[in-house]
Amino acid sequence: MNELLRQDAELLWHPYSSMSEPSPMRLVQGADGVRLRLDDGAGGTVEAIDAMSSWWCMIHGYRNPVLDEALRTQIDSFSHVMFGGLTHEPAIRLAERLVEITPAPLRHVFLCDSGSVSIEVAIKLALQYQVARGHQGRTRMLTVRGGYHGDTFAPMSVCDPVNGMHSLFTGALAQQVFGPRPPAGYDGDEAAIAAWAAEMSELAERHATEIAAIVVEPILQGAGGMYAYSPGCLRILRELADRHGFLLILDEIATGFGRTGTMFASEHAGIDPDILCVGKALTGGYLSLAAMLCTTDVAHTVSSGPGGALMHGPTFMGNPLACAVALASIDLLLADDWRTTVGRISTGLSKGLAGAVGLSGVRDVRVVGAVGVVQLDGPVDVPRMTEAVLRRGVWVRPFRDLVYTMPPYISTDEEIAQIGLAITEAVGER
Ligand SMILES: *Cc1c(COP(=O)(O)O)cnc(C)c1O
Repeated sequence: MNELLRQDAELLWHPYSSMSEPSPMRLVQGADGVRLRLDDGAGGTVEAIDAMSSWWCMIHGYRNPVLDEALRTQIDSFSHVMFGGLTHEPAIRLAERLVEITPAPLRHVFLCDSGSVSIEVAIKLALQYQVARGHQGRTRMLTVRGGYHGDTFAPMSVCDPVNGMHSLFTGALAQQVFGPRPPAGYDGDEAAIAAWAAEMSELAERHATEIAAIVVEPILQGAGGMYAYSPGCLRILRELADRHGFLLILDEIATGFGRTGTMFASEHAGIDPDILCVGKALTGGYLSLAAMLCTTDVAHTVSSGPGGALMHGPTFMGNPLACAVALASIDLLLADDWRTTVGRISTGLSKGLAGAVGLSGVRDVRVVGAVGVVQLDGPVDVPRMTEAVLRRGVWVRPFRDLVYTMPPYISTDEEIAQIGLAITEAVGER
């Protein structure tokens, strides 16, 4: 085995990895545009389209000249300064742009290191908000099953209790209130939605004095199962929040920046959250950065409450390199006709994955915006499926019973077709 890979197995944890039984790794030699250049294990290289956009992030592709240049320019100015008592133009311009492109009531921005941390901050803000309003007892979150909100403790407490493996951390996790998963499908069945709404309403009522906020991923649950649901369900959650004085926190870390066909997925429902979290594609995949945005009501209520401040302040808050590249990435997106791009990818994925419908072992094929999903009737053999797709020039990272793709926005029609065909053929080969 390659010496580097041997060291990797000995030294490094990877996401959800075992040190005693390390899973197969591919060494990246380079990446350009939509393509990864991987070591083939025999002294050569193999090229593959990154159908994952490095987990929702790399929307404009690798080595994007505009993003590279934004980083170089900022490096030549300064790479980092503390954000306490100091500020800088990249953070200010980024905040301005985020306020412009997110739902209108969101006016204030907290910049932090990662999606999970932004959820931590959102939950903290919601708790402080309720305290400021005299509701000390409102310390729990209301959410739905099937969600994923990150891996640190507060986000983990609102992840699906089964898939999120709450049993491993019994006693250490905040006890949140879980409603049923919204009925499946963007065009969810009306009777099923009404029944779901009644259950959510009953839960909200029963726990009204304990709940600070509702937390969900709008329209599309990502790592909890690549599961789409009706915008109507979001409107129901907005009503419940208003009726009971809960805040509505929308986690758009995966769905943000056009991925579902609207700039933010909440737009499908025509509702506005009180708190919004974005991350992943925020920097075009270049650096770790996330943002939490909130309304003026929330910001001012917390600021005039006990403590008089939002109690959070990471060391690398508002990192100038990350802010500069995020601003460049958003501007690149806005300069493109991104709606048409996402629509084109969506159509391409629907066509490309159509062949998987009805294959033996395939339970469901679905496309939401620029996200394509093939759900099998059992767990995927991840190393085998990864290799089968890679042999066809495409990189995917399946999980549980899902083989899925969210291609870079710069993918051509031919590349989208190749992704669809590679997944379909690999699934057919099982
Ligand atoms: C990835 C993700 C997170 C966590 O973000 P990290 O940057 O990995 O901490 C939270 N919520 C959703 C919906 C995500 O997809």
